[in-house]
Amino acid sequence: MPRPALRTRSRRRVYRRTPGGRTVIHYEKRKPGPARCGMCGMPLNGVPRLRPVELRNLPLSQKRPERMFGGVLCVRCLEKVLKKTIREQVIAELEKIIASRTQQSSAAAES
Ligand SMILES: [Zn+2]
Repeated sequence: MPRPALRTRSRRRVYRRTPGGRTVIHYEKRKPGPARCGMCGMPLNGVPRLRPVELRNLPLSQKRPERMFGGVLCVRCLEKVLKKTIREQVIAELEKIIASRTQQSSAAAES
């Protein structure tokens, strides 16, 4: 009989074979749920389902994808965000050019 704190199904039972040939039960905490996208809530690929203590021993490159917003946004949301910001930048540039041209043409008309 395990000690009372371990007599719960909230802990995972892992059967381990000892060097002496006995099988013992290890009581481990369960895996956390998958990491999710910050925008759409879909599970993220490339992020391991490990407890923080186990994540500490992993190299950084194995903790999340090495693209921008890796481990925070999914690829679809990242694509949307990037397209949106680039379009906004392009529109701002175009507006600057249009404003400078209208100023030039008005200045040319006055002189
Ligand atoms: Zn997403």
